[in-house]
Amino acid sequence: MFEFTEEQKMAQRMLRMWCKKELEPLVPAMEKGELLPFDTMRKLGETFGLRGIVEARFARLEEKAKAAGASGGGGEAEDKGAFGDAGMLAVLVIELSRLSPGFAMSFGAWLGLTGGAIMAKGTYAQKVRWGKPLLSMEKIGAWAITEPQSGSDAFSGMRTMARRDGDHYVLNGQKTFITNAPFADTFVVYAKLDVEEEKRPIEERPIHAFVLEKGTPGLAVSKPMEKMGMHTSPTGEVFLADARVPKDQLLGETEASQSREGARDVFHSERTGIAPMALGIIERCLEDSVRYAKERKTWGRAIAEYQLTQEKLARMFVHRENVRNMVFRELWAAKTKTKIPMAEACACKLYAARAATEVAMEAVQLMGGNGYMREFCVEQLARDAKLLQIGGGTDEIQIVTIARELLRE
Ligand SMILES: Cc1cc2nc3c(=O)[nH]c(=O)nc-3n(C[C@H](O)[C@H](O)[C@H](O)COP(=O)(O)OP(=O)(O)OC[C@H]3O[C@@H](n4cnc5c(N)ncnc54)[C@H](O)[C@@H]3O)c2cc1C
Repeated sequence: MFEFTEEQKMAQRMLRMWCKKELEPLVPAMEKGELLPFDTMRKLGETFGLRGIVEARFARLEEKAKAAGASGGGGEAEDKGAFGDAGMLAVLVIELSRLSPGFAMSFGAWLGLTGGAIMAKGTYAQKVRWGKPLLSMEKIGAWAITEPQSGSDAFSGMRTMARRDGDHYVLNGQKTFITNAPFADTFVVYAKLDVEEEKRPIEERPIHAFVLEKGTPGLAVSKPMEKMGMHTSPTGEVFLADARVPKDQLLGETEASQSREGARDVFHSERTGIAPMALGIIERCLEDSVRYAKERKTWGRAIAEYQLTQEKLARMFVHRENVRNMVFRELWAAKTKTKIPMAEACACKLYAARAATEVAMEAVQLMGGNGYMREFCVEQLARDAKLLQIGGGTDEIQIVTIARELLRE
């Protein structure tokens, strides 16, 4: 049977204590937009020795680069993702999501999506220049593919264009719903190549990722957008109006390999990354619901004695078991270095996201008027959970992809 290791369980206990002491008191201010989450994330990184881990990782990278005589060149395929240990990452996401899924999402978009994209596809020089400051949390990251006119159809609908101009590229377009964008220092932005020799229709043009820095002329961001949930995670737009960047800001520094595959890898990791978030939400809602059901009395009896309440708790428990097994399945795949097939990754996301939303809404229901009040965490978790069914590919897109894989010849 797969289980968390003793080391991971210990980390889980420490994280839970840290969240209770350091994060929980700040969540109300973050939820109201009075406090940004980034310094607290840095504190989390410091407490758990992230800087040391990053230093060690870059020392190894430097050795490898020296051995290979690489001062630039292509990305190093084995250097996937921003974190080394998938189990520790899952524990971290579960614990943060028990309290604030938005905090976990911003943290993930910063280190996992933005840092991860650079570490997976960047040259050695790019990893040192942008990857290291992102992973050591000096610079805040945002990963931008979605546009006002293209979301589910992110590749074919993309209209952000990059035109070659001597030793530079000039980018024009707009991105939306981008996590961390209003406060980001480093952006990974996807754009289609707009070059004279390109004869293909716009839908099929090659897509490349560019690294942009805050302060680049022509790059602007919106103020945080107002949204239903995930309030601890700032979301915004990115505007590109003749934003001119040197060629070494093309991720991987080559037009030979395009970035659709890289972005697909990120979609895949976003899909598998949902299960630990969902598990954190479900665990917290189930625990709070059990406690509440035992304490709250109507007609002189604890509501836990009513079968309708028991049915809710039992369904929550079933979802928790299933989603936990999905997390373990993902960790097993990481341990054995096997990639989860796309249909299965989609199935995990579809199930886990729906389960988290259902459980959180049922927790609200079980707590009656209290459940609807801000004071009770389940109200926030219910709003946050809904995003899991939309971000990183909607439920419908998971279904369409599963069906396509099933019906493939
Ligand atoms: C809080 C938040 C944070 C986000 N963070 C980021 C980020 O950091 N970076 C980033 O790039 N993006 C981000 N996104 C964008 C997110 O990935 C998209 O919102 C998502 O992929 C859906 O795209 P859309 O909003 O354009 O919906 P649409 O594609 O317009 O879909 C609208 C509806 O139509 C349905 N639909 C579409 N096509 C089909 C089809 N073929 N069959 C059946 N139904 C279909 C959808 O399922 C959905 O119900 C974020 C979004 C949110 C809300």
